[in-house]
Amino acid sequence: MNIETKCLHEGWKPTQGEPRQLPIYQSTTFKYDTSDYMGKLFDLEAEGYFYTRLQNPTNDAVAAKLAALEGGVAAMLTSSGQAANFYAIFNICETGDHFIASSSIYGGTYNLFGVTMKKMGIECTFVDQSLPEEELAKYFRPNTKALFGETVTNPTCTVLDFDKFSRLAHSHGVPLIVDNTFATPVKCRPFEWGADIVTHSTTKYMDGQGIGVGGAIIDSGNFDWMKHADKFPGLCTPDESYHGITYAERFGKGAFITKATAQLMRDFGSIQSPQNAFYLNSGLETLAVRMDRHCENAFKVASFLKNDSRIDWVHYADLEGDECHDLAAKFMPKGTCGVLAFAVKGGREKAIKFMDSLNIISIVTHVADAKTCLLHPASHTHRQLTDDQLREAGVAPDLIRLSVGLESAEDIIEDIKQALDKI
Ligand SMILES: *Cc1c(COP(=O)(O)O)cnc(C)c1O
Repeated sequence: MNIETKCLHEGWKPTQGEPRQLPIYQSTTFKYDTSDYMGKLFDLEAEGYFYTRLQNPTNDAVAAKLAALEGGVAAMLTSSGQAANFYAIFNICETGDHFIASSSIYGGTYNLFGVTMKKMGIECTFVDQSLPEEELAKYFRPNTKALFGETVTNPTCTVLDFDKFSRLAHSHGVPLIVDNTFATPVKCRPFEWGADIVTHSTTKYMDGQGIGVGGAIIDSGNFDWMKHADKFPGLCTPDESYHGITYAERFGKGAFITKATAQLMRDFGSIQSPQNAFYLNSGLETLAVRMDRHCENAFKVASFLKNDSRIDWVHYADLEGDECHDLAAKFMPKGTCGVLAFAVKGGREKAIKFMDSLNIISIVTHVADAKTCLLHPASHTHRQLTDDQLREAGVAPDLIRLSVGLESAEDIIEDIKQALDKI
């Protein structure tokens, strides 16, 4: 099946007489006839649902669809993208461990990694992802457990060099974890380029309409934990809190997701509600069609901005001549996403006047949904970062992030034009 078909037919596969649409299993618990069988479920010896914090049929169907879309072996849903990125790292890092992340990542993830996880004794080194491989290699330590980046960075819209990052991760015996929120599996499948684990904020394009906050983790099944058993004791030695199970031995390619579910979801409980999983599934059905249109519209808007004398610069990797164009052409030949970054000439004041003059395009703390919206990270999402941190993250104080939606491209451009006229 091609991706358009998978969006509709993977996941929930009804048989004779079953509902054609994914049912919402709005139940906390599931019933069994014998105490013995319940015991086996708890020992992970029998398969079956018992409590929605651990597994729910609606969520599992959607997770299965995501695994199919990304080309992975297993997946889980989380309550948010934040929870997904936290679990993905915390599943293999404990106190005293270290990991490396691109400094150009989403502000919320930057904060999670740099501030909150630091309090747990896990240290993150943020690196400039454009540095040469030899330079980046110097940041690896004996206790480094993962390398993390975003396919297309939020909000700077730069493209990850998968070749360089996967070589770096694998030559140091650690997995490459990639947040694929902006590209979605429709535009990029990181596993085909060497990533081992993929995360998502499903809140964005996957949901597509700004309905529900959610996240997901998908495992390629490709990383050989046992080969690096000394680095990953959580997966490669018995878990005393779970009947002495050694995940990598018992579950093979499914080890990462099984551990994240049986241990982290059990203890932290950041589940996606079945109702939200249902909404997510509806969004996924049209993801491929929407992503094509997002890219088409963004390309038209980016081309307009590039040729307008009132615009200082525009950053959209699909544009010929963009500094990330070659990477985008290689890893996302059918387009990147609908998000672009640009700056209005005349600094902060003009930027604010411009934003306040827009009619259709709204200023919201959201990105990657059906309605065009924009945001000024320095005064909105990234306001907790210092100027130095902003610069380190590559976020210029005048950067405006524009998320091009599914309206008529002509109307979006008209709205931008009239707002530019007002400054
Ligand atoms: C929004 C976002 C997140 C966080 O996701 P939430 O669903 O808001 O928790 C993580 N990564 C990227 C790239 C994002 O855009």
